[in-house]
Amino acid sequence: MKLTPIGFLVFAALAHTSVTAAPPNIVFIFSDDHAYQAISAYGDARKLLDTPNIDRIAKQGLRFDRCLVPNSICGPSRATVLTGTYNHINGFYNNSGNVRFDGAQTTFPKLLQKAGYQTAMVGKWHLGSDPTGFDFWQILVGQGIYYNPPMLRQGARVQTEGYVSDIITDASLDWLKQRDRSKPFLLMAQHKAPHREWEPALRHLDADRDRVYAEPPTLFDDYAGRGPAERDQDMTIEKTMNNRDTKLVAPAQLNPEQRKLWDAYYEPRNAKFRAANLTGKDLVRWKYQRYMHDYLATVRSVDESVGRILDYLEKEGLAENTIVVYASDQGFFLGEHGWFDKRWIFEESIRTPFLVRWPGVTKPGTTSRDLVSNLDFAATFLEAAGQPVPAEMQGRSLVATLGGRPPADWRKAFYYQYYEYPTPHRVRPHYGVVTDRYKLVRFYGVGDDYTELFDLQTDPHELRSVSGRPEYAATEAELTAELARLRRELKAPEQVPASWFGAPRGGSDGENGAPAAGRKQQK
Ligand code: CA
Repeated sequence: MKLTPIGFLVFAALAHTSVTAAPPNIVFIFSDDHAYQAISAYGDARKLLDTPNIDRIAKQGLRFDRCLVPNSICGPSRATVLTGTYNHINGFYNNSGNVRFDGAQTTFPKLLQKAGYQTAMVGKWHLGSDPTGFDFWQILVGQGIYYNPPMLRQGARVQTEGYVSDIITDASLDWLKQRDRSKPFLLMAQHKAPHREWEPALRHLDADRDRVYAEPPTLFDDYAGRGPAERDQDMTIEKTMNNRDTKLVAPAQLNPEQRKLWDAYYEPRNAKFRAANLTGKDLVRWKYQRYMHDYLATVRSVDESVGRILDYLEKEGLAENTIVVYASDQGFFLGEHGWFDKRWIFEESIRTPFLVRWPGVTKPGTTSRDLVSNLDFAATFLEAAGQPVPAEMQGRSLVATLGGRPPADWRKAFYYQYYEYPTPHRVRPHYGVVTDRYKLVRFYGVGDDYTELFDLQTDPHELRSVSGRPEYAATEAELTAELARLRRELKAPEQVPASWFGAPRGGSDGENGAPAAGRKQQK
């Protein structure tokens, strides 16, 4: 055990309280595929929407500007949050269904529960196995759906009526209201939104009144200046985004009343679209506009949820001794490089929003550019609760950083590794190292291995690999050495078994280490 009482003392000193003060409650609000570009506190140039409630956390707390995930897809990120380990340690490499989360592992909710916390998990879980370490859990079945979603409450199936974000919020508040008030609590409220297919609450359909959204500068990226991986992917708005995504086809789960509201909004607009017969760039532009309308509308429901939870904490006098965290399982492309989805080591995908309010510890309205990660969440929650951090956790506590005093030896380089291939989006497996300025990326496992190097200072949109250029030779050599060092330190696999790419359970592995074709998957 690397027992670190320092953070708790920092907390105690900053909070002007004694170490015998009640351990803080933790409310962890977690969304799915929420791009930082779609949070007003992050100040995206496109000004896509206002998120006044998520912004409350930023205004009263700390906004992390470089929170990176080790593997930018749903299940693997969730496994990392719970365990504080990389996927080659926790065993959840991909979303293909050929792996299940091993709930017998050490997780921070289990340790908090043991330490006397009352623990609850509500919403999207998506790890195959049932949650462990929770006094109460109510999760979406599988990936979850937006309207009238079936859920599992402590293992029993329940049918709900309404919109998924509202249902998750209601169940979270219901649990808070009936909790044992003599104990500190951990609530994990985990949203489906704004995951594909970006289906809004019906009350939000009309919110933007046919507004035209600004396009990202790389909407029509031609992928020149990079290797084959960026060209070979299957995740463009142009080619991959389908009629369900663009709402030309309605979801099957709407009840007749809901369907009427859906049709009233989409049908006249879809008729106009069909009549226009758009092609080429005009068609991409139309799809981008529809995508932004729907995606941002789902974010509104998450922002409202955050507001309701913050209001409850304030009303109940809990705000002062509750850590509130807002984060997503990864970032998302909102048209950058012509893409939707995630997976890549590139900024929009690897960076997840991360905002923390801890009264007495976080200084209101502050920001951090330290290289932090969802790998660090487990250790942070444990230290905040005055608990030791198990040595096998690969992340580090952020408690000192939250107090405005990041450790002098904080990481300067972050290791990333992605596996899932070829379905669903044909993004080649890659690993790499990220620093404040550079990214060195190694594509492996498919075709010939090759390297890319990006200089974010001269190329913030990551459009031009400078690997092999003489002026970057020293930098590339340093990063190559750092990558090798990190791979050793983190025990990254020398060879990746083909099954880690996502061959379905019982399916045959590909030949010569090449990944087998996966079954049709959800992300
Ligand atoms: Ca996700």
